[in-house]
Amino acid sequence: MIVPRLIERKRSGERLEEKEWHDLIGAYARGEVPDYQMSALLMAIYFRGLDRGETNALTDSMIESGGRLDLSHLTVPRIDKHSTGGVGDKVSLILAPLISALGVAVPMMSGRGLGHTGGTLDKLESIPGFRTDISLDAAAKQIESIGCALIGQTDEIAPADRKLYALRDATATVEVVQLIAASIMSKKLAEGLTGLVLDVKEGSGAFVPDAERSAKLARAMIQLGADRGCPVVALQTAMDRPLGYACGNALEVRESLDALKGHGPRDLMEVTFALGAEMLMLAEAASDGAHAWKLMHDAIATGTAVAKLEQIIDAQGGDPGIVDDPSLLPAARKIAEFTAGRDGFVVDVTPRTIGHGIIALGGGRRTMEDTIDPAVGFVITAKPGDRVSRGDVLAVIHARDDAGIKQGKRVLSEALTLGEEPGKCLELVSVRIDARGSTPWIRPEVSL
Ligand code: URA
Repeated sequence: MIVPRLIERKRSGERLEEKEWHDLIGAYARGEVPDYQMSALLMAIYFRGLDRGETNALTDSMIESGGRLDLSHLTVPRIDKHSTGGVGDKVSLILAPLISALGVAVPMMSGRGLGHTGGTLDKLESIPGFRTDISLDAAAKQIESIGCALIGQTDEIAPADRKLYALRDATATVEVVQLIAASIMSKKLAEGLTGLVLDVKEGSGAFVPDAERSAKLARAMIQLGADRGCPVVALQTAMDRPLGYACGNALEVRESLDALKGHGPRDLMEVTFALGAEMLMLAEAASDGAHAWKLMHDAIATGTAVAKLEQIIDAQGGDPGIVDDPSLLPAARKIAEFTAGRDGFVVDVTPRTIGHGIIALGGGRRTMEDTIDPAVGFVITAKPGDRVSRGDVLAVIHARDDAGIKQGKRVLSEALTLGEEPGKCLELVSVRIDARGSTPWIRPEVSL
């Protein structure tokens, strides 16, 4: 294999063969191909793309670079959910215990904050003692005994993707639909799933803001799953405003606890139930959407969902006491309200600005080496379309010190626009996509 020839061919718009992908990715994972050559190839891919066969070969090579979660001995369905990333998106924290409480195994592998978006692992690690770096063996045992494990991508799973992802991040080559699809699916397909639900975000705060491109990403991932016998369903959901109220690690854990106790914000619960229903239907644990929504509602109302979270936290070394007493979570030293400067309507709450604002407060990373402050962030109760009066509280800032509060106010002044007319926003859940095609998403007729 002569890597410069592969780069040259890709640069000229030719395709690389399956064996070439396997050799190249294997050699890169073993450290036999330098980053500078891989960077050049990534830039060629950025401009030329990958066809279906190449995307398949890249995905398989990345899976084969590591181990798999072997759950084949389990008789229950194994379903995960993955989000393409957003601000305030704590749905995984709610869905994992909720769906496993309903008898479906949930091997959930999540990531850290990326760019302006938050990461489930960072949120979980704000729970004192909680460990996400458990081995595949330990995760498999935990899933067998309690039905769920919440883990990170260890070196065992798709190490080639891990290395390639860091390189893409450093070379401005993340935003390629086929590369994102192969990256996400290489990890998901190594989990031994019987089904996968994707939350594909659209709108200004999404990695792929454009609805058509985000649908293309969904179709690419559905195809990769279908070609490997793993049915995948995707919902396109709105990320033109934060999801729920809380944005910031420990604040989002707190809001997830509220949600599992039946007091979650409406938008957060709608997205959670829409995705959860797809998980339950893939698992054949619910006959239709209305049945699934009722099951989830009951699991929350009876306390079985929150009890499952307690069990998971305990199994992963965390303090289960946070479930009954959320004040045990890290708390910011300084808290201040942010109020409306005029009468009017909320036009916009820009998720990207909020995401970058959390990083500025210390709640996210600028480099992979940064440690994060789990306590800081925002609780933004104002939603686009709300009518507000001067002096109304729109949000609360949680910061380390007075400088953080000042910074938080600057962030919110930029992110929150008030005007004469209510702002227009995207439908919360718009489209359902599976291997057969796309249909408008229809909310089940249930009154809960
Ligand atoms: N998340 C991933 O795991 N990979 C990508 O390429 C983008 C988001």
